[in-house]
Amino acid sequence: MIYDVAVIGGGIIGASVAYALSRYEVSVVLLEKECDVALGATRANSGIVHAGYDPAEGSLMARMNVSGNARMPGLCRDLDVLFEPCGSLVIAFGPGEDAIVRELYERGRRNGVPGLSVIGREQILSMEPNLKDTVTSALWAPSAGIVNPWDLCIAMCEVFVRLGGKILLNSEVTASAWDGEAWRLTLPTGTVSARYVVNTAGLYSDEVHAQAAPADFTIHPARGQYFLLDKSQGDRVRSVIFSCPAKDTKGVLIARTAHGNLLVGPTKEPLDDKDDTATTAAGLLEVRQKALEMVPSVNFRENIANFSGLRANPDNDDFIIRKVPGIDNYFEAAGIKSPGLASAPAIGPYMVDLLSEGGLSLFEKQIVRDDPSVLLRRIVRFNRMSDAERAALVTRDPRYGRIVCRCETVTEGEVLDAIHSSLPARTLDAIKRRTAAGLGRCQGGFCGPRIAALLAEELRIPPTEILKDRAGSYIFTGPTKGSSDLPAESDATAPLPFERRPSDAR
Ligand SMILES: Cc1cc2nc3c(=O)[nH]c(=O)nc-3n(C[C@H](O)[C@H](O)[C@H](O)COP(=O)(O)OP(=O)(O)OC[C@H]3O[C@@H](n4cnc5c(N)ncnc54)[C@H](O)[C@@H]3O)c2cc1C
Repeated sequence: MIYDVAVIGGGIIGASVAYALSRYEVSVVLLEKECDVALGATRANSGIVHAGYDPAEGSLMARMNVSGNARMPGLCRDLDVLFEPCGSLVIAFGPGEDAIVRELYERGRRNGVPGLSVIGREQILSMEPNLKDTVTSALWAPSAGIVNPWDLCIAMCEVFVRLGGKILLNSEVTASAWDGEAWRLTLPTGTVSARYVVNTAGLYSDEVHAQAAPADFTIHPARGQYFLLDKSQGDRVRSVIFSCPAKDTKGVLIARTAHGNLLVGPTKEPLDDKDDTATTAAGLLEVRQKALEMVPSVNFRENIANFSGLRANPDNDDFIIRKVPGIDNYFEAAGIKSPGLASAPAIGPYMVDLLSEGGLSLFEKQIVRDDPSVLLRRIVRFNRMSDAERAALVTRDPRYGRIVCRCETVTEGEVLDAIHSSLPARTLDAIKRRTAAGLGRCQGGFCGPRIAALLAEELRIPPTEILKDRAGSYIFTGPTKGSSDLPAESDATAPLPFERRPSDAR
């Protein structure tokens, strides 16, 4: 089969392109080298929907950021993704930083960011009483917000698959060749052919590009390290608090996450290694000190996890979103560093316009014309339901009455939904990204074994085959006592004993 379009890379940008294409009569395959989508920068970032005052005036980045920010609330509503329009403050201490705040305000106005204002000390402290009271001014951006980045990516992929799209996981593209009619993409398991290619390979987009065209840009990784604090600290701030930006960084931020924890970070460390997501004592100390200068009462003893993510910085300071000049039917969205998440809702549709200008015929699917709600997604979130809603749900299916994750109040029914969704969860962390089970204070200490057992039962595989996350991350080596009731045979392709679940109904 020759697909119309192959998208290389299942991060937020590949997902946005795939989702935007899913309303049209085109066959699309998304190729992802890892065992799930959203395992690159899309899973380890600040989750901020930036307002758009940072990017240089007239840049593609500024355009995508402001447009993506405007589209984000509607997209999250459509896809049932956690989003909070809490606004952001860039805070200044003293005349030097006051001038930077003023500069950001002017640039933001020129970029078309709505509602910006520069506010003084009294107003700042009435909005954010925990800020250090020597603050002198701040840029208030009411259109900024926080979003769950990996769930947005997963949701777009789930709808894409439901509408006929294909996702091939564990499918690293190692070579690309144009045969005059289609691109032949080499995977570990064979080849895939497609008339059009969209390279959204994040940190590796320069290397994937070089498979098809002369290299004309390089991606430079830059690591950002974080503290994730318990929900007890989530109320330290109401909006997203940024320190004043220094060269090439938006500054250190303090923000609630979409799940109500407190996030502090990131560092900005240029690296050579595109896989080095280590955290370091020095990096964490740096962000901790900066955060305490802004909000002295943050209690770092409430830290529950540290992590880091890698930015994909291009040589110049702008996104590279284009048809590659002189190369047949080859497109890319590369160098998508921050604010790539905020820009994602705009980048997918923009890429679809480029593909259309490049000759791809796009006719809306009959099913979308008949019922646009096929583009929506709904999931059960037990911890956000009223008691009456919970009672009705449990009456319909008692599996929603069994709490699996006590920190985040996630039920067995939700875990089973994730295992049987259109983009099925196959690892402990894939369940965490889809349901929040394991995201809380105990970090999966209690729910991990139960979720592993559910995965083994539903997939009919022995527990020793269950992965924590990436390929090779086995959790169990074998039984310690007695024998397991679980089947010894591994047959992940056998039909599964599940019924249609309430959340399958849109
Ligand atoms: C520390 C940090 C903080 C950030 N904070 C924010 C923020 O608050 N707000 C914001 O708007 N943006 C933020 N960003 C930026 C944002 O996270 C990224 O712009 C966005 O996630 C990029 O998405 P992507 O799809 O391009 O890349 P990725 O998410 O990295 O996805 C690329 C995918 O391609 C796959 N891939 C690579 N090579 C191949 C291959 N050969 N074959 C198949 N698949 C391949 C990878 O496995 C990966 O899944 C931050 C980034 C970092 C690192």
